[in-house]
Amino acid sequence: MTEETTEPLVRIRGLRKSFGTHLVLDGVDLDIRLGEVTVLLGPSGSGKSTLLRTINHLERPDAGFVQVGGGIIGYRYRNGRLHELGNRAITRQRARVGMVFQQFNLFPHLTVLDNIVEAPIAVHGVPRKQAAARARELLERVGLAGREGSYPRQLSGGQQQRVAIARALAMEPELLLFDEPTSALDPELVGEVLAVMKDLADSGMTMIVVTHEIGFAREVADTMVFLDGGRIIESGPPAEVLANPRHERARAFLAAVL
Ligand code: ADP
Ligand code: MG
Repeated sequence: MTEETTEPLVRIRGLRKSFGTHLVLDGVDLDIRLGEVTVLLGPSGSGKSTLLRTINHLERPDAGFVQVGGGIIGYRYRNGRLHELGNRAITRQRARVGMVFQQFNLFPHLTVLDNIVEAPIAVHGVPRKQAAARARELLERVGLAGREGSYPRQLSGGQQQRVAIARALAMEPELLLFDEPTSALDPELVGEVLAVMKDLADSGMTMIVVTHEIGFAREVADTMVFLDGGRIIESGPPAEVLANPRHERARAFLAAVL
């Protein structure tokens, strides 16, 4: 059958979020299919990070919902009504979604290996030996074989971000979120991180990537989504969105970053 009949991995409906009186997400609807890469673009303050953080339970929506793999993030149905989940259920759901931040957020006092094995051991109860073996595989995958004994401060920013990607992968996520993963890097280190992300995309990982790297978006994204003022104002294949943005705000933004 056609693509439309495939159940999306991520289904976002009517998502709203305010901070005080400031409406930050103003009714976001978005579907993401298994294996798809979605690049999220938009000016500073448009709600990109809040959208990612809501998908990963770091923010609680005021209205609407996010569903990942059929499970509703943050809520469950009981007697036909939505109820908030308890902390343990949230932890279980969050384990299915990996996140990579602009600032890497590695634990500075832990080695590369310990950064990667910490969550699988603590959250999934994976035996240490098995977690360490998997961590070594993942380090090889991100081009850092042999660096397991290093501390974050001994690595370049690009290497630290690749460790952060390995750490996210160690939880075997169904979905990976990237929030401006190369924005804190020196320009010469951006390419090595984007190459790892492209490799992941090619391997079929479902990803949502906030980035201003238009070249990456053009090459890797299946869908480009443009957020402005907490609303999606453009969405489609990158070639279409880039060649023919319909909204003036999207046109102005693209003219500035291209
Ligand atoms: P983007 O990632 O697109 O730059 P954000 O989602 O970070 O945008 O932020 C959208 C708006 O929400 C901004 O105006 C920001 O100041 C505000 N905001 C984000 N997080 C909070 C928070 N925890 N408390 C108050 N305001 C916030
Ligand atoms: Mg942001």
